[in-house]
Amino acid sequence: MTPDPNDAINGPEADERPNAPADSGPPSARTTPPREDPGEAESAGAYSRAKRILFVVELAAGLAFLILILLSGASVSAARWLESFTANPWLLVLLYMTAVGLAYEPIGLPLDFYGGYVLEHKFGQSTQSFWAWAWDAVKGKLLGLVIGAILLEAVYWLLRRFPDSWWIIAALMFIAFAVVMTRLAPTLLMPIFYKFTPLKDEELGERLVRLCEKAGTTVRGVFEMDMSRKTRAANAALAGLGATRRIVLGDTLLQGFEADEVEAVLAHELGHHVNRDIWKGLAFQSLISTLGFYAAYRALAYFSGGFGLRGPADIAGLPLLMLTMAGVSLLFMPISNAFSRRLERRADRFALGLTDNPAAFVSTMTRLGRLNLAEFEPHPVIEFLLYSHPSISGRIRMAREMFPAEFAERESS
Ligand SMILES: [Zn+2]
Repeated sequence: MTPDPNDAINGPEADERPNAPADSGPPSARTTPPREDPGEAESAGAYSRAKRILFVVELAAGLAFLILILLSGASVSAARWLESFTANPWLLVLLYMTAVGLAYEPIGLPLDFYGGYVLEHKFGQSTQSFWAWAWDAVKGKLLGLVIGAILLEAVYWLLRRFPDSWWIIAALMFIAFAVVMTRLAPTLLMPIFYKFTPLKDEELGERLVRLCEKAGTTVRGVFEMDMSRKTRAANAALAGLGATRRIVLGDTLLQGFEADEVEAVLAHELGHHVNRDIWKGLAFQSLISTLGFYAAYRALAYFSGGFGLRGPADIAGLPLLMLTMAGVSLLFMPISNAFSRRLERRADRFALGLTDNPAAFVSTMTRLGRLNLAEFEPHPVIEFLLYSHPSISGRIRMAREMFPAEFAERESS
């Protein structure tokens, strides 16, 4: 799991991981205006539903796989077999991770392909060729492998070295790691998938700088990101920490939106910046990972005599550790999403106050929602459980509530 340093302006459909398999559509679709056809809402609903089903299937498949290899004894057999090649605990962790990872690929790879390529093309979101998608997928896998190996080696070293306090040290290490990754993301991780260039449009650039000054803040630059090579979807984010902190605008946003609307998007990102939301997000994730490590500590201690394990530090118990951590983060997902929606609402409120242009805010939301095939009015239960951002209709409603006179005037004229 890579820490997610980015906040995205749009809804939960947007995959915010740096290795996001970008969303699809034929290249010609790039120049077409936002869809206005009557089937639009239907297609947005179908897209969101398909994404949701895929999310559940991927989750269920991953958990079922871990449960199966743990209960069947396959995990123990694999670890013992690998031990016949090496007695080195570091090498053993690496070999076990690779073997189990490969064993999951017959399930994981088709799901990745369906979600990242087939589905995105089916709904006209992706602008990527198969090979461009595959290359991104390979880079994502390699990055995951390197980061995963470093973290796993560290956790198992702690398990061997500090059997009673490993979980607290591991949690502290994860927090430090998340901060470092957030700091490095814009300069080290995101450029693996996207090209960043300083904003080219000078006139717009000046407007945006003035907006930053109005917000009483300076950002370390506004960059554009070549999203259009991969997707029709538009997005923007505040990324990085300290000297790498910057505002990133998708070129898809710059192409398809009016200057007023780009301002509304930037104002929302400035809201996160002024509210120090990256730090709040990191703090919240740190809390959940600490609880996860504690739960894993208890689970490994309790079950380490069962399943044929030789103790908590036995690598064959990794499925148990992963299941426990996944269980904790699933349990906290609704709270984590509610927390995120709260920060998003505050950023929206800040943006509306800063620009004093609710009409541009509403048209931005509408355009973003259409472009990204968002469900404008998801079922409240779905929104509560799964949405990291308020629904588009909720965000528009808030703008109307903040500026009642403005909208009354517009509707009567
Ligand atoms: Zn946001």
